[in-house]
Amino acid sequence: MSTNWEIGVFASIDAGLGVKLEVVRELGIKTIQLHAPAKASRTPENAAAFTKKLKEYGIEITTVFLGFEGESYASIKITAETVGFVPKTTRAARLAEAFEISDFAKLLGVSAIGSHIGFVPHDKDSADYKDVIKTIQDLTAHLQKNGQTLHLETGQEDVDSLLTFIANVGADNLFINFDPANLILYGIGDPIGALKKVGKFVRGVHCKDATATAGTPGVDWGSEVPFGTGQVNAELFLRTLKEVGYAGALTIEREIPEEPARQKEEIGQAVKLINELKAKI
Ligand code: MG
Repeated sequence: MSTNWEIGVFASIDAGLGVKLEVVRELGIKTIQLHAPAKASRTPENAAAFTKKLKEYGIEITTVFLGFEGESYASIKITAETVGFVPKTTRAARLAEAFEISDFAKLLGVSAIGSHIGFVPHDKDSADYKDVIKTIQDLTAHLQKNGQTLHLETGQEDVDSLLTFIANVGADNLFINFDPANLILYGIGDPIGALKKVGKFVRGVHCKDATATAGTPGVDWGSEVPFGTGQVNAELFLRTLKEVGYAGALTIEREIPEEPARQKEEIGQAVKLINELKAKI
């Protein structure tokens, strides 16, 4: 079976944990997932200039990832309080901003929007759960108008809850961006078994790795480590992607922007590893 499996990397212009565009070019990587640029940057003029630059570099954006001011991954507890569409006080404003990011992504010619929804309330009969569902229904409806799909990042929910959530939203442009490391970081469990369960919904992946916490899973973070050196089992991950029929981009994530030299080097090592595995699988 041949697949595209084009190598990608998570990139940032002025916000987020990704690498700079120049680094993407230096590494010879041809696709990116782009963290949504800050509000002031999301103008038609910037979209045109950025598109021109990407063309010159030979780089294609596969996905624009939503990101909002005030989000913090400092701890699992703070993540639950600040990330995505779950925090009540910012929900409506973030939905409005997500519409703007979707419109900006359309100007860039991008047809996929990635998102962390946050820790979805567990009581499915609660008004809060229903309101989160309604929020994502509104978001997918807006994306539909822009010819876009929404890819929910895995991690904060176990995959059964995620599948229930997708069914409850009931939109046919709602899919998954599968990040195997997040399941380990958040203490959700085995990423390979999870991937098999949600395989048909997977439209994007992060090649990211992690080791589980020595503390309390679900309370204390595990550690993010270079792809291929943690508990994901990179070869089995790619073999399972093939098994579930995934043929999209393999987007490397290494979330250490505070150490750019090391970030670049370790992404380069991940590219080498993925190329070796692609040749073998
Ligand atoms: Mg990720």
